[in-house]
Amino acid sequence: MTALGPITVNIDGYLAQNRYEVDEGNPHIELVDRPDPERFGDLVRACPAALYKVDEEGAQHADFAGCLECGTCRIVSSDLVVKSWRFPAATMGVEFRFG
Ligand code: SF4
Repeated sequence: MTALGPITVNIDGYLAQNRYEVDEGNPHIELVDRPDPERFGDLVRACPAALYKVDEEGAQHADFAGCLECGTCRIVSSDLVVKSWRFPAATMGVEFRFG
């Protein structure tokens, strides 16, 4: 919040510049079988790439193709959602591009 009001930043354009190499069949993030709904909701709010979602029926969805490899979900979930987390293999994952 500033003296002029809240600051809103749209990062979609910045994220769209990145390049992702998805390691099909070898995910770098694995979830527990039945994630805790409250902790999952925390990840919906915390993931900067908005990769955790809950639909209108309450079903949980996670797609890691656009993962920024920040590790926030690993820290926030306290093992109640994320079962394992590691960096993708060399040449896989996100390649950050600027400007
Ligand atoms: S590592 Fe970061 S960007 Fe990737 S899924 Fe977790 S919170 Fe989202």
